[in-house]
Amino acid sequence: MDHSSPDGYCFDEYLDALGANWLDEDELLLRWLARSRLDEGTLDWLRGFGHAVATRYRDWAEVVERREKLPFIAERGPYNRESAEVVLPPETRQMQAEIHGSGLWRASLDERARYAVIYLLNQNGEAGVTCSAACTDGLAQSLRALGDDSHSRAVVEKLEKATPEQWVHGAQFITEIQGGSDAATNAVRAETSDGSLWTLSGQKWFCSNCTADYWLVTARVPGGPPGHRGVGLFCVPRLHEGQPNGHRILRLKDKLGTRALPTAEIELEGAIGWPVGRLDAGLKNTVAIVLVASRIHNVVAAGGVARRASREAHAYAGFRQAFGRKLCEHPLLAASLRDIEQNANRTAAGAFATVDAWLAAKERPDDEDRALWARILVSVAKAVATRRGPEHVYRAMMVFGGNGIEERFCALPRLWRDAAILETWEGPYTLLLSQALGDLVRFGVKGRERSFLEFGLGDHLAREDARELADVLADPEQEENVLRWGELAPRLYARFEEKALEALFAEG
Ligand SMILES: Cc1cc2nc3c(=O)[nH]c(=O)nc-3n(C[C@H](O)[C@H](O)[C@H](O)COP(=O)(O)OP(=O)(O)OC[C@H]3O[C@@H](n4cnc5c(N)ncnc54)[C@H](O)[C@@H]3O)c2cc1C
Repeated sequence: MDHSSPDGYCFDEYLDALGANWLDEDELLLRWLARSRLDEGTLDWLRGFGHAVATRYRDWAEVVERREKLPFIAERGPYNRESAEVVLPPETRQMQAEIHGSGLWRASLDERARYAVIYLLNQNGEAGVTCSAACTDGLAQSLRALGDDSHSRAVVEKLEKATPEQWVHGAQFITEIQGGSDAATNAVRAETSDGSLWTLSGQKWFCSNCTADYWLVTARVPGGPPGHRGVGLFCVPRLHEGQPNGHRILRLKDKLGTRALPTAEIELEGAIGWPVGRLDAGLKNTVAIVLVASRIHNVVAAGGVARRASREAHAYAGFRQAFGRKLCEHPLLAASLRDIEQNANRTAAGAFATVDAWLAAKERPDDEDRALWARILVSVAKAVATRRGPEHVYRAMMVFGGNGIEERFCALPRLWRDAAILETWEGPYTLLLSQALGDLVRFGVKGRERSFLEFGLGDHLAREDARELADVLADPEQEENVLRWGELAPRLYARFEEKALEALFAEG
């Protein structure tokens, strides 16, 4: 192509370079998946997603973000028959049907294959589907683990047998107007007359994916103690006998990012539901199962977003010319590209290793060290990986110059806005680091800092950091030590990522 003339200037080379299958073109992902020795059927199924995200989902992710396509509250009909409903564009519904109806929630599916799909989907940002996937994972996991009743079993069966024609998905409403981090202040009330049928009333402040069929909702139980032990976890179907189940959508939030995802303020007015797990362990179970599932999705999402940023920057810099050379041939820009790729590799490898650590802990529930490592790791990984997300995307945007700022030219402005939201979900940065420090204290890491870090980081890396962690844990209440932990935690996670990356490249 003649780049010196504006006549016939065309961007096809850049668009083609974005690739046609984001599974086949991702060496790191393939190396990680090789650990699972997947059968050909599962690999083909994954390749289907690899192709979809690089082609039609990539296009639809742009379409559903356009102003005229955003979710909206439909006007109520004239005959007092319907209540207001949130409407999604057909492209979002189609993606949701294909994703949830694909077999993604089968218990028999290999977990790495499941999270590979999540990583691939997130390369298109939220697109109205990734929050839905995270919440549905939390729904499936909590009902499988805690739901020994017929209602829960029926939902699990629907998830197991879902097809693109008949599928269900989940949402989770914990945050209230007075606070999200401190969910023990929840005030939404649960009431029952006979202990089997429950109704929920009060307001939930951030209700994402509110078109979902089943909502996991935290609510205060009658006669329960104040604080977290008084909060139960309930499953609330969105519809009851075909009508909205005792709730009103008050408004949709007007958000910086994840705009294709409807996030509502909802008034529950006697919504019928059933308890999931013990009533006095509702918040504990929510954190341990539902929020941990979402946090892992967020870590994997950060990897997906970083990978897309790298993909975009390389595709553009390998095509665009300035001063008679491709952008990628200018040394300073080439160095920037290497950084962007390294960031993507590290973030993805860290995410994969976080999934591995969590799976290993689930497989061996009696191994306390493993469980503790996974618990702390998930909190720190979620905090650190999501905080860096917008920075990774921004650097890639700048490789495009002015075209990187144009919303319709490339996906990066949208991904940048979506990446900023990831940090707020399921616990923002400082809250998660504080909780991780609290867990280190509560689970008695003091005095065995070295063996704790060696477990996850390896011997040669852990010695120096162990000394510093010991200083922090000597008096974890002291402000100076809390601040030291704030500096140590991201450093530890960076080492974890580095080690994870080395391990993947060392595997044949
Ligand atoms: C787009 C979007 C969609 C959302 N969707 C949902 C949803 O579907 N369901 C749902 O339940 N919630 C949802 N949320 C809410 C989200 O989970 C909360 O915003 C989050 O948990 C933080 O709660 P908060 O906003 O009340 O902040 P606060 O709890 O008021 O916290 C404010 C700041 O204080 C910090 N902080 C609080 N406590 C501590 C501590 N102990 N140590 C150090 N720092 C601390 C936090 O890190 C944060 O930076 C959504 C949020 C957004 C932005």
